[in-house]
Amino acid sequence: MRIMGGIPSADPAPTGAVGVADLLPNKAIVNLPGCPPNPYTLLGVVLQFASSGTLPELDHERRPKFAYDRDIHEHCPRRAHFDAGRFVKQFGDEGHREGWCLYEMGCKGPDTHAGCSTRHFNEIPDVWPIGIGAPCIGCTEKSIAFRVPMFQVVQIHTTAEPPTTYAPIVAPQGKVSPVASGLVGLAAGALAGAGYVASRKFSNIPAVRPGDTVIVSGDLGAHGIAVLSVREGLEFEGEVKSDTAPLWPAIEALFNGEIEVHCLRDLTRGGLSSALNEIASASGLNIEVEEKLIPVSDVVQGACELLGLDPFYVANEGRFVAFVPERQAARALDILRSCPVASGAVRAGAVHETPSAIVTMRTRVGGNRVLDMLSGEQLPRIC
Ligand code: SF4
Repeated sequence: MRIMGGIPSADPAPTGAVGVADLLPNKAIVNLPGCPPNPYTLLGVVLQFASSGTLPELDHERRPKFAYDRDIHEHCPRRAHFDAGRFVKQFGDEGHREGWCLYEMGCKGPDTHAGCSTRHFNEIPDVWPIGIGAPCIGCTEKSIAFRVPMFQVVQIHTTAEPPTTYAPIVAPQGKVSPVASGLVGLAAGALAGAGYVASRKFSNIPAVRPGDTVIVSGDLGAHGIAVLSVREGLEFEGEVKSDTAPLWPAIEALFNGEIEVHCLRDLTRGGLSSALNEIASASGLNIEVEEKLIPVSDVVQGACELLGLDPFYVANEGRFVAFVPERQAARALDILRSCPVASGAVRAGAVHETPSAIVTMRTRVGGNRVLDMLSGEQLPRIC
């Protein structure tokens, strides 16, 4: 534990322990608090000092701003539940099992500056307290860790107070949604000449509905990482080849196979996660996907871990997601796998009534996380 003095310095501090900065007030000290400190943050500081002889800009606690300038709450995977007023009330209740926000269980995320929610420990998403269903204890904050009781609720200083009711469903169901309208754009982008045909096919198809199967047409992230490697001159252990390809042959095959496609989206900027969020938001439904079912190549996974990117948000240029009735899912997969552009198609998840307007993911380690809308700018820009 590195909290500028460690556990022994917490009240009543019987040993009189203090942090190194208090003992050496005139020395250049960089604090990397955390339990444990994030290795990427340590590496970043060491590399900057080794290469330029300078230290990063520090905050009032002498923490590097590049790693500690935002609070965990800003990018927490459970944030959508906080914003919707969905809180765990006690360990083991339904909300806890569904991965809801831990604020009322004493989570210190809104008052804790650290990158835990974006820089994964051990390169495995969700291997951190909030990821496994335990509230953040504020281990990077000198004034919180082991000073504020573990289950005491903190004040919200930097973000809006949570609502006391569920967020409204943003679009009525049963009508042509913005997602369905967006299908025309997908087909046009996939193959310009086929856009008109696709729009006619889709114009009377209703939007996603509970029970639909979510199909992803292949492995994720190759295009974004390929662009990044060329643009920035980065080399990875294997070759990364862009997935750019026209989608129309696979889409046409679905039409010809009389698959009742309820919704279709390409996975360009913002990747799979952003596309699913737009659909969940427009339909007011829950889209649940399984991490282990969605392919990401080893080289893309490795590059993302190295660069701090999440492959579910990395852009693709030859991938799409399709929503089809469960009874037709197996046939839709057979059809897609016979098309070169969608030969890696997989059943990725399903649509449920609740929790409303949100995308959730069953993680490899058996937890639940919210796949939120991309916030900020995921690199590289591809257009
Ligand atoms: S679990 Fe904690 S950090 Fe995450 S949204 Fe809830 S209060 Fe914020």
